[in-house]
Amino acid sequence: MSNESVVMLLRERGILLASHNQGKLAELRRAFADDGIEIHAAPEKGLPEPEETATTFLGNARLKASAAMEATGLPSLADDSGLAIDALDGAPGLYSARWAGPDRNYQVAFDRIVSELGGAEKAEGARAAFVCLLVLRLPDGSEMTAEGRVPGRLTFPPRGEGGFGYDPIFLPETEGRTFGEMTPEEKSRFSHRARALGTLRRTLGLT
Ligand code: IMP
Repeated sequence: MSNESVVMLLRERGILLASHNQGKLAELRRAFADDGIEIHAAPEKGLPEPEETATTFLGNARLKASAAMEATGLPSLADDSGLAIDALDGAPGLYSARWAGPDRNYQVAFDRIVSELGGAEKAEGARAAFVCLLVLRLPDGSEMTAEGRVPGRLTFPPRGEGGFGYDPIFLPETEGRTFGEMTPEEKSRFSHRARALGTLRRTLGLT
């Protein structure tokens, strides 16, 4: 399918965002706000959350996008993302949500990071990056993928009430504020998800 036909299809049918994460939904919705594309959210369609059994971000994003497309027949976009810490060989990475435990308590994840890095002194300033892989699965079975990455450093204790997940401990390079201290508009200017979406939108000719 040509990119123009894909955009026509998206304008006709909309895009189903295959995520139950309210933080991600808000960022993805904002990115498509001016494209004349209706955005459907997985919870509104009563979609279950598939188990993330793949071993790469791309694999998990593909698994979520495919499950949503197969259940609804709609073009479906999924993101798999996480925080990759250099000194922990990329952990928590794929397991970012799981490190926060079943209650999604991020203080638990922050404490684990500090402990695995060998204490507060070593954890402060540790190099890390937020990574996002997007898969847009189309009804004909084809897919488009895009990756976004933001390098930065960790800081403790957490700062800021904004964002979600690891935002309060992540200082993007060249910034003195954590993602948690930014407004949603500021974060969506250069987050990993925004970068991946920018690539996808450029591929589609939407920008
Ligand atoms: P999944 O992609 O649904 O498996 O979850 C990714 C997890 O990575 C989230 O639940 C967060 O823990 C973390 N994460 C991904 N993107 C962000 C972000 O923009 N800010 C903070 N944490 C994030």
